[in-house]
Amino acid sequence: MKKLVFGHQNPDTDSICSAMIVELGEKQKGIEIEAVALGGLNEETKYVLNYIGKKAPRIIQEVEKNQKVIMVDHNEFGQSVKNIEEAIIEEVYDHHRISNFQTKDQVLMNVQPLGCTATILYQKYSLEKVEITKDMAILIISAIVSDSLLFKSPTCTKLDEQVASELAKQFNIDIQEYGLEMLKAGTNLSSFSAEELLDVDTKEFQTKNGKYQIGQINTVDLNDIVSKENTNIINAIEKRITNNKLDLFMLVITDILNSNSIAYCIGENSKKVAKIFKQEIIDNKINLPGVVSRKKQIVPFL
Ligand code: MG
Ligand code: MG
Ligand code: MG
Repeated sequence: MKKLVFGHQNPDTDSICSAMIVELGEKQKGIEIEAVALGGLNEETKYVLNYIGKKAPRIIQEVEKNQKVIMVDHNEFGQSVKNIEEAIIEEVYDHHRISNFQTKDQVLMNVQPLGCTATILYQKYSLEKVEITKDMAILIISAIVSDSLLFKSPTCTKLDEQVASELAKQFNIDIQEYGLEMLKAGTNLSSFSAEELLDVDTKEFQTKNGKYQIGQINTVDLNDIVSKENTNIINAIEKRITNNKLDLFMLVITDILNSNSIAYCIGENSKKVAKIFKQEIIDNKINLPGVVSRKKQIVPFL
């Protein structure tokens, strides 16, 4: 069985690009490995792969027992592939909290509080003297721009910005122009049903207070999504809560130009959220001024 590398379910640009970076990097070292995905690509990631003329990774539903794997951009089993507990996890490259994770054997973990997994991979391959090709550079730049919302998210570190900017300079890419085009491509959700909107970028979290799913959608106009399919979205969320026995579902709509969010906030624990953020929930929605990062500005407080 060929070794597999993959990011989380409902893959974002960092999950797809980081898996592809590992495949390209390991192949240079003569290691047989395939980047795969735990779901279809979002519009933003499609823009990136189209830009470099590469095909989307194959989608897998589960792994076999003793399948060798490398996990990128996640570690929580609840966000990973079916049967992950049966796999041999050889390496993990990530920038999230460690939670609900264990291995049968030794594991190489490179987890750092940086803005993006691809930044960690850039460090790794630079140290290993693996050549950062133009394709790898664009994958790294795209992942960093995506996770940092063009360096505006509080998760973005100096190193993330430095790596992306230096690679862009080296390969003659105008990072502001490319980055904004890429982010805007991801906001094109006109063809999405309410159910599909819930899966654009949704993650599940098991906390001591309950089971949560938190989705995030980028937009350049908050009214676009918030006004359009209001009742459809609310119905879809309520269905999701019942089917998955959730205590909370939040769908965070983030204005990437003005760095603000509005979130649908539904479920048993929604009142707690209102208290935490000192905001009222009106029509199942809560204002989250200045909030752009699920990881840093929402999850730790729930
Ligand atoms: Mg991610
Ligand atoms: Mg990431
Ligand atoms: Mg993300």
